Amino acid sequence: MKVYNLACPLDHRFEGWFASEEDCLSQQDKGMLACPVCDSTDISRMPSAPHIAKSSSTELTVSKTDAGSLSGNVVALTGLDHSHLEAQVQAAFLKGMRELMGRSEDVGNSFAEEARKIHYKESPERSIRGQTTLDEAEALREEGIDVLAMPLMPAFKNTLQ
Ligand SMILES: [Zn+2]
Repeated sequence: MKVYNLACPLDHRFEGWFASEEDCLSQQDKGMLACPVCDSTDISRMPSAPHIAKSSSTELTVSKTDAGSLSGNVVALTGLDHSHLEAQVQAAFLKGMRELMGRSEDVGNSFAEEARKIHYKESPERSIRGQTTLDEAEALREEGIDVLAMPLMPAFKNTLQ
């Protein structure tokens, strides 16, 4: 049994379990590997070292959430008829995220500014969401502001308009 770290173009990381390296390559070639989060079949294998260069693309962020468990790492299965299960997991994830977003106020591009105002008590305390860069999200965390950042997923576009 081989375990590989896999990632989609949106940088969702997950593990794939395969009988052999050939098995992994053939599933990859046939487009049988799909990201459990966004369903992309453009899957690449990551080196086993955990931290790879970060993307600096725009990220969707949610502040002050209790979503600590919704990190970038998920577990995936291959070689089974799991499409039903995968759809359920994905649906549950999206539902959870929508609920989280429903409880937050959309501040759009002023996310970082507003998150700081709330942190320094210049604005009423509440949960907000919006767009910022990964660098900005890290800067906020360094200031002690609890920010959850994730890639902008196509599935959320409707919710975010
Ligand atoms: Zn993905």
